[in-house]
Amino acid sequence: MKNKKITRKITQGMYVLTTNNGGCMVDAVSQISAGDNPLISVAVMKNNYTNELLKKNKLFALSILAKDVNPNIITTFGMNSMRDINKFENTSVKEIEGINIINDSLGYMICEIIDSIDNETHTLFIGKLIEADVFKDDQAMSYNYYQENKEDLIKVTTEKGKTAWVCTICGYVYYGDTLPDDFKCPICGVDKKLFKKKD
Ligand code: FE
Repeated sequence: MKNKKITRKITQGMYVLTTNNGGCMVDAVSQISAGDNPLISVAVMKNNYTNELLKKNKLFALSILAKDVNPNIITTFGMNSMRDINKFENTSVKEIEGINIINDSLGYMICEIIDSIDNETHTLFIGKLIEADVFKDDQAMSYNYYQENKEDLIKVTTEKGKTAWVCTICGYVYYGDTLPDDFKCPICGVDKKLFKKKD
């Protein structure tokens, strides 16, 4: 392969994916059919707790984040697992069709899951759009914008006196002198090469 970096130029967005009892940040969302109830696809990491939930649930919702979204939404949904914290506890949400929608968003799409395809790392969930609304007509945040500005958007704080390794993709913090040999980020799944030691 001459240069895989070109894949970073694929336009992706910043979305909070929610379903009953869970949710996470996703970037790979596409509308893949037309009509009144188009199909929407979303790729979710296989080892994400939300993925487990989606395999049992009927519906998912996508809240589309604005460029000026409160970064706490990204850290809450992107750098934690519902296995450890309740992401909805300190997030302003409204319940629609039984699913939590993020109030600090441009709007939402609720889809009924009709199919899923597993690959090595992700599951592609395909849903039929059954409900949607626009909250405000501002600019959406792109994944590239987030990657280019995340150091300003998100301040990763680490505990003093401990050696910390920060995932440069999602901001997850691992404490320990060295990263284990076959370590992968438990949140976004990247290899340990993408972790930076924080002094
Ligand atoms: Fe990560």
